[in-house]
Amino acid sequence: MNQPLHTGRLVLTPEDPYLLPDDPEAILTKLHEIGLIEGALESGPGYLLGEHFMQLVTFMGCSPYIRLQADASGEPFCHLLQDGPYPRPKLLCGTNTQPPRCEACRKRLSEWRDSFESCLTGNDSCKVGCPHCGHRQDPFTYDFRQSAGCGRLFLFVENIFPQEAIPSPTLLTALELACIGHPWRYFYQQI
Ligand SMILES: [Zn+2]
Repeated sequence: MNQPLHTGRLVLTPEDPYLLPDDPEAILTKLHEIGLIEGALESGPGYLLGEHFMQLVTFMGCSPYIRLQADASGEPFCHLLQDGPYPRPKLLCGTNTQPPRCEACRKRLSEWRDSFESCLTGNDSCKVGCPHCGHRQDPFTYDFRQSAGCGRLFLFVENIFPQEAIPSPTLLTALELACIGHPWRYFYQQI
């Protein structure tokens, strides 16, 4: 079977990359309540998107064609997956990832992939050194804007192109409430 091309995903995660929500199930319950998701998929892990998905996530462009369930075409469709929880933060990046900026000098780390990789496979307290100013920074606190992100629990809205759709304030507030007041953020990952 041919694996369809990965169009990308919208990723939601708590702003604090070290935060592990106490009750991941409560987050899914909240998403059911607000109509972002419906029942579990029959074809694999994940959830069908619910009746309010198109209000809770805003699509750019005038008339997007969004496939919300499997059909005869076999084309990928949008659905929700929960990823994690992980014992320590994980960096999710992809072909869309832009070099992050150093928090001290604000210059971009163009060769970031190698230094991050050795750090992320090393010990927990490893820091990435900035080649411009020498500042050492926790790799999980780098700002990739919306082109990558770190966390211990993620929600994936599958088959969304980078920048194609943004979560509404209502959705972000609902996630925050389900996570005892910890704010959430979003980014995109294209593999
Ligand atoms: Zn620097």
